[in-house]
Amino acid sequence: MRVSITEAREIVLAQCPPLDPVTIDLDAAVGCVLADDVIAPEDVPPFANSALDGYAVLASDVAVVPVELPVVAEIAAGAAADRPLSAGEAIRIMTGAPMPPGADAIVLVERTERLDDGSRVRIHESVRSGQAVRAAGDDIRSGTKVFTAGTLIRPAVAGVLASVNARSLSVVPKVRVAVLSTGDELIDDGSPLGPGQIRESNKTMLLALVDEAGAVAVDFGVIRDDEATLEAVLRDAADTCDTIVTSGGVSMGDYDVVKAVLSRIAEMQWMEIAIKPAKPFAFGRLVNSAGRTIPVFGLPGNPVSSLVSFELLARPALRQMMGHAELLMRQRLLAIADSPLRRSTDGKVHYQRVHGRFGDDGRYHVSAGGPQGSHQLAASAVASALAELPDGDGASIGDEVLVYLLTS
Ligand code: AMP
Ligand code: MG
Repeated sequence: MRVSITEAREIVLAQCPPLDPVTIDLDAAVGCVLADDVIAPEDVPPFANSALDGYAVLASDVAVVPVELPVVAEIAAGAAADRPLSAGEAIRIMTGAPMPPGADAIVLVERTERLDDGSRVRIHESVRSGQAVRAAGDDIRSGTKVFTAGTLIRPAVAGVLASVNARSLSVVPKVRVAVLSTGDELIDDGSPLGPGQIRESNKTMLLALVDEAGAVAVDFGVIRDDEATLEAVLRDAADTCDTIVTSGGVSMGDYDVVKAVLSRIAEMQWMEIAIKPAKPFAFGRLVNSAGRTIPVFGLPGNPVSSLVSFELLARPALRQMMGHAELLMRQRLLAIADSPLRRSTDGKVHYQRVHGRFGDDGRYHVSAGGPQGSHQLAASAVASALAELPDGDGASIGDEVLVYLLTS
């Protein structure tokens, strides 16, 4: 099936719905997307408290300064006032300690002077009523919606959830992704290379890309070009993971076992995407032993193709499965070409790996990123973006090009 990259992505996304929500502990929820709105069960802060270390007073008692007041009590954070404040008194108070009843403002300690071993205080600055007092519910009111479904639980969101005691959450779980590479030529144990052998690199890269996408990568190893072995591994992966990413074996070669096995055991769509690199791409659905349909991404073996097809197809699908609204997420922006980005006309969209940086003009500038062969991962590995070059002869210096950042 010959398709554009947009069509290929639509086919994939249509078959990768979000995972069913699960209830998990807040401790494990960072990086997940909320499946439900969160209504605050408590006020934050839960009581009126002091924003500063200082003295709780009645603002009207310090309208004329300097003024001396007796210090009748002290309240630390975590303690409660053991007596209310009466007119003409001060209470020593620490940041976060509850306001004593009767007081309506705080004088900063630096604007005061301790007298008589702390039993009296001289106040040098007037305050208005409410000054340096944090009201109950000032941050979050009990009963209000703090976060809506679809919110990504970033570290600060987790902090807010802890602050309202939302300890058990309904979230879209992180996708467990089985990653495996295939090929008789691949060596991954550090042993000397025999004739025709190469070092395995895609699985190492893909495991890290899966992690970087916020999913959970599960290493299923390097599988030889043997149909029975591959079938057993794929079935095991389908029974224990939510999706499978394979590398290699999806082209037209005689030893393309991924193609052979998946054609037999899964419902596959073999695509030739009108892009370069990463033309061959297989996407399918494998029904596991529990009757659940597991999406399978068959990425090409050439390392750069594997990288680009993961970025353009697998990553958005994983994000959709994890409930994200923004699927590409890597920023996409219009950049200025600082060097020619040449290509030839071939009916395909090219994704050139480019170097980029934000210039003093605030705009993103890109320049050619070194060798572009689909086996030349070294240059692509340090590229900062993919420049999307429509069919034609490429971009000249000063042209605007659409780029997908690889580093955000
Ligand atoms: P294939 O898609 O299996 O035909 O492989 C295409 C090219 O990518 C061949 O040159 C393979 O040796 C190479 N290749 C396949 N898998 C890997 C891998 N996991 N790591 C590095 N190179 C690979
Ligand atoms: Mg192969």
